[in-house]
Amino acid sequence: MKYVSTRGKAPILTFEEAMLTGLARDGGLYLPGTIPQMAHAEIAALAGVSYEEAAFRVMRPFIGDAFTDAEFEDIIARAYAGFAHAARAPLVQLAPGHHLLELFHGPTLAFKDFAMQLIGQLFEASLKRSGQRVCIVGATSGDTGSAAIDAFRGLEMVDVFILYPNGRVSEVQRRQMSTATESNVHALAMTGHFDDCQACVKDMFNDFAFRDEVGLAGVNSINWARVLAQVVYFFTSAVALGAPHRKVSFTVPTGNFGDVFAGYIARRMGLPIDRLVVATNQNDILHRCLIGNGYVPDGVIPSISPSMDIQVSSNFERALFEAYGRDASATAQLMEELKTGGFSVSQGALEALRESFDSGRCDEDQTRATIRRTWEETGELLCPHSAVGVHVAEDHITPDVPMITLATAHPAKFPAAVEEASGQHPPLPLHMADLYEREERITEVDNDLGAIESLIKERTLH
Ligand SMILES: *Cc1c(COP(=O)(O)O)cnc(C)c1O
Repeated sequence: MKYVSTRGKAPILTFEEAMLTGLARDGGLYLPGTIPQMAHAEIAALAGVSYEEAAFRVMRPFIGDAFTDAEFEDIIARAYAGFAHAARAPLVQLAPGHHLLELFHGPTLAFKDFAMQLIGQLFEASLKRSGQRVCIVGATSGDTGSAAIDAFRGLEMVDVFILYPNGRVSEVQRRQMSTATESNVHALAMTGHFDDCQACVKDMFNDFAFRDEVGLAGVNSINWARVLAQVVYFFTSAVALGAPHRKVSFTVPTGNFGDVFAGYIARRMGLPIDRLVVATNQNDILHRCLIGNGYVPDGVIPSISPSMDIQVSSNFERALFEAYGRDASATAQLMEELKTGGFSVSQGALEALRESFDSGRCDEDQTRATIRRTWEETGELLCPHSAVGVHVAEDHITPDVPMITLATAHPAKFPAAVEEASGQHPPLPLHMADLYEREERITEVDNDLGAIESLIKERTLH
């Protein structure tokens, strides 16, 4: 299996190389050269198997000969052993024809654990074999960072630095990052917004001297292995509701477009997905783009669903690359235009995007009303991100096709917003009930590339 960059000017890599690299050297994102297909009978045979077995069958064709079957089985088993639910990704019914896919039973209570726990095990297996050391640097609006820290803490061959926007993550998110006691973990509180953190990480990857000196590796949602891990639960949940014998639809609370792009890959592999709905909060650049208004960032407005507060949605580049018929120079051109204010999508590419994705937005009042109403009608407490999904899904439900909305975080990760909306205080699950008592360790940094690079060098090169 070969991986190609969306901008066409980076080397073609194997799965293992693409995973360890993250961002391509031409600034693009890696994608498989061809999308493996799963036959109707192979999809049908996923009914009733464990999450781990389904994960093995869905992901195996993408990894080539990077790991033996036994190694890969072992990696998957270790990745999901720390989840607090036997089904890993259980489905709950909200209303006739509407189901919630609970993706928050992992160690840091957000769907990011599905990919990050797997990537931690993949990195460890790969680096142990090569004896290589890497420095993982990531930007987070909250959930990626805590998931990365939990997945990599204490690993021998890895240092992990996470940049988050100072004062703009929830207390639970911050504490999940700042209370890890392992010395290979570094939580950096940066002045600015998430987009500033993400831009800073991108700049580090484009500083090739620094990148090679510290052995930079990326685990942001651009990393192909993360998208791949997320493909699995589209299959398990669809099959649980009758696929491939009938179609299902999905609504995905979206920020960086990684999760919904995983759904797109599942469909390309043969899963009969009817509608794939992109749900945004008031930061609705993706919705505006998909309804034909071009892709024009206009500043982040902080919301009660902070993990979706972004204007530069990095994985959208993969969708554009596909919509332009895998034309790498057209994709590179759009990304150039983005640097100077935005771009418009060609008519043909827009039609291709709209064949693949529906979209909707949910403002703050609608988010709160959805949390309250869902609690009253079903007894299910939604986190604000999941509520954005449920609100948008309700506009896209069609008769005879079950709708699955992805519940991307546990309500206890965003207790203030949930309590304000519903009057209910969401308790933390038992395994992290002492989070508020643990000691914190944070380094504050300015939005200054040189200073951050020096700090990383100081802490990793002895
Ligand atoms: C990351 C995140 C999202 C957005 O997912 P993307 O893959 O970036 O689109 C939504 N909800 C929560 C809780 C998240 O942590």
